[in-house]
Amino acid sequence: MTFTPDDIAPRAADYERMRKHLHAHPELGFEEAETAALVARELAALGLVPETGIGLTGVVAVIEGRAGHGNRAVGLRADMDALPITEANGFAHASKLPGKMHGCGHDGHTVMLLAAARLLVGARDRFAGRVVLVFQPGEEGHAGARAMIEDGVLHRFGIDEIYALHNWPALEPGRVALNPARMMAGIDRFSLKLTGTGGHGGHPHQANDPMIPASLLVQALQSIVAKNVSPFDEAVVSLNRLESGDRGALSVVPETVLMEGMTKWYAPEVRELLERRIAEQVDGLARAFGMTHELSHQRLYPPTINTAPEAERLACAAEKVLGPGCVDRSIRPSMGSEDFAFFLEKRPGAYFRLGQGRPEAFLHSPHYDFNDAVTGHGAAVLAQVALDALNGEGRA
Ligand SMILES: [Zn+2]
Ligand SMILES: [Zn+2]
Repeated sequence: MTFTPDDIAPRAADYERMRKHLHAHPELGFEEAETAALVARELAALGLVPETGIGLTGVVAVIEGRAGHGNRAVGLRADMDALPITEANGFAHASKLPGKMHGCGHDGHTVMLLAAARLLVGARDRFAGRVVLVFQPGEEGHAGARAMIEDGVLHRFGIDEIYALHNWPALEPGRVALNPARMMAGIDRFSLKLTGTGGHGGHPHQANDPMIPASLLVQALQSIVAKNVSPFDEAVVSLNRLESGDRGALSVVPETVLMEGMTKWYAPEVRELLERRIAEQVDGLARAFGMTHELSHQRLYPPTINTAPEAERLACAAEKVLGPGCVDRSIRPSMGSEDFAFFLEKRPGAYFRLGQGRPEAFLHSPHYDFNDAVTGHGAAVLAQVALDALNGEGRA
């Protein structure tokens, strides 16, 4: 059995209305109460029994196949949260809430999984086993995937493998792109407070100015990737905040400098190396200039690594749905990050990009909007890969 994007046509107008409603009423990570309620209502209307409150605001429902007895369960995941940015679009369904916006298309992801659920409910006689629909909160930096895993989503619902998509503005509608292994990088955050002795700018010998070691550190940090990491490994050290002094405070040597940045990596040993070298440079420079320092390193998301057989199954499913030649199987790994990584740490599966067009407004742009024309693409590919996985098809 093959699903097509047109399978959602009878309900396409409803999905668009729903998606625009979500877009106009965005909710941030772990605050997705209304979104979760809408999802639960829609799942109940399909005759499913949604469970809410998994990972705080997550929602899960199970579709039982009726083609004999199967023990396997395939997870399909959509993220539901919005971003803390103010929308710059002026159309009717623009965000009604200043400072909150669906700038990453998770409104579209949510509706595509609801549409996939309807397709799979209608195809229950064509598979054995279970499809587990995972509506996840807090993808944008809140580790909502980890929260759901800690709440037992993988064990409670017996998920054996799992799939997810992200809309991709730089990719044409009707196309899918993925990598058999490395999709998105791991990310950690570091924060530093350097404290010296403040004082009068006209009496510099009585102060020891933390801005001097801070400015050296800005440059020293750039040497870590250049001189400590192998050219064959991926790594980024990016300093994203540097703050000191008070505006208009003439002749005042500040006492503190605050710095914040992030590291990106794929290999765990590179993660360790970046963390260690940042600590050594901070410690060395602080010591050399007679400063004290507080450095914290927060481990955020692991890298998002597809498993090759499941990536191939996804690619085959996408080709059935969208046509031969629509899949790019070997895109370059991205240095962006994604918390679906937590699921792929625990289970085989694949994460893929779905072409949505509109490259002029990339993800997280205040001008971004999800393209409703691709709802059928995402829904049919998700439904197809679940069906194929349960029927043992399309795996390399
Ligand atoms: Zn995002
Ligand atoms: Zn996103």
